[in-house]
Order: sequence, then C-alpha cells, then structure tokens
Amino acid sequence: MKIFATCMECQKELGLPSFEPIIADYYEEPVAIIECSRGHKSAFMLQSQKFEILLESAANALLEGYTLEAASTLSSAYERFFEFAINVLCSKQNVNEEELKRTFKYVSKQSERQIGAFLFLYLFEFGETYEINKKLIEFRNKVVHKGYIPTPKEVESFGDRVYLEIFAITQKLKEKCNEDIQKVITASLLERSQKLPTDMPRATSTGTMFFSLSQAEQKSSFTEAMLSYKVAQKMFLEAVPYMN
Ligand SMILES: [Zn+2]
Repeated sequence: MKIFATCMECQKELGLPSFEPIIADYYEEPVAIIECSRGHKSAFMLQSQKFEILLESAANALLEGYTLEAASTLSSAYERFFEFAINVLCSKQNVNEEELKRTFKYVSKQSERQIGAFLFLYLFEFGETYEINKKLIEFRNKVVHKGYIPTPKEVESFGDRVYLEIFAITQKLKEKCNEDIQKVITASLLERSQKLPTDMPRATSTGTMFFSLSQAEQKSSFTEAMLSYKVAQKMFLEAVPYMN
C-alpha cells in the first residue's frame, strides 16, 4: 500500500512545511518508515482502521482492472468492518479492552462468528435487527472459494452493496457512539506507536482517502467515493513534480 507523506522533522527544523513529496510503502502494520533527502528517518503512522485500508486497496485494484482482487478485498473490508463495529459497540458498553481482545480471539478465525457477535451488539444498542444481505455472502463465496473472476460491472455492484452497508452502519455509530469511534481509533494509534523504536520520531496521518472516518462526512455511495478518489489521486500525482 502507498501513502503520500512529507517530512515533519524538516518542518520542525525549518519552521515551515517541507514540500518534498515522499510516496511511502506500508503493509500490514499501517506505519510507513520514511527518509527525506536531508537524512531524517521517521515513522508515518496512519490512523486508518483495517477496513478503510482494505476499501482503498480494493479501489486501487479495481482501477487497475484486477477484478478478482478487488472483489475479494472488498469482502475482507466488509468482514473487518464488523470487527471495527464490534470494538465500537463494546467500547460503548465500557467493556475492558484487554478482555475484549481475549474474547475476540475465540471468534477471530471465523467471520460468521464475528457477524453473529455484531448482530447481537447491534440489537442491544439500536433495539432492532440488522438485516444481513445474503446476496453479498453468496457473491463473496463465489469469488473467494471458487476463484470466480468477476467483470468490472459485477465488482462495482458488489462494491456498491458492501459500501452501502458500511456507510449506513457508520452513520448510525456516528450518531450514537461517536466518542467510542474516537476511542477505538486512539487505542489503535497507541498500539501502533508502542511497536515503534522509542527514539524514532513519528507523525500521524489521517490515512486513507477512499473512505476516511477522519472526515466529517463520508461519500454516500461506492460510485461517488470512486469518482472522488480518482480526482484526488490525479491531483496528487500532478502536484508531485511541482513540489519536487
Ligand atoms: Zn526531513
């Protein structure tokens, strides 16, 4: 995965933003280790949740024409979103973080169990049944288990449905558990920062652009999010030569 970064150490030394653009790589741990031309080495931490990163990865795969990868990544994003929602809903119930981690281990390898946990937490918080979209699961199984290679149109329609669910639940969580969303994000940043060498300077980034909890409003559909992502990407790429 790639993230656009600038050196915060230069900014501290020079007292003004560094315009040297750095496109940095990150993988499972959403932290990019960057080195600027003046030799500063620092860690650039994303505050994005796993599902946000996977959504962006799926968008990139779709833009490149890798439909199988886009579809399977979308379905992973959908599953990791439920994990995020479980964390937020448990935080709302003042569940101890360490205990939650211990319990989650029992469901971490089976997404059906996680969806089960989500369904009851959702019922508890909102007093209504969350209707699971069975078509999503069927399509996911076809792609993940049978290696079905979908057309871009099929991925878009799958992406639409996945996105709509994520968007709708996010809106509900923002309404009733906004403080807990922030708590979950802060806790994951703290965990990321604790894994870094203590003497390494670090900066935090809002992270992904495709879907970002750090923005006040999220795009309401997959199509809209794709369009705005394409525009943002183009703008960045066009700005890089000027910044250099
Ligand atoms: Zn620097």
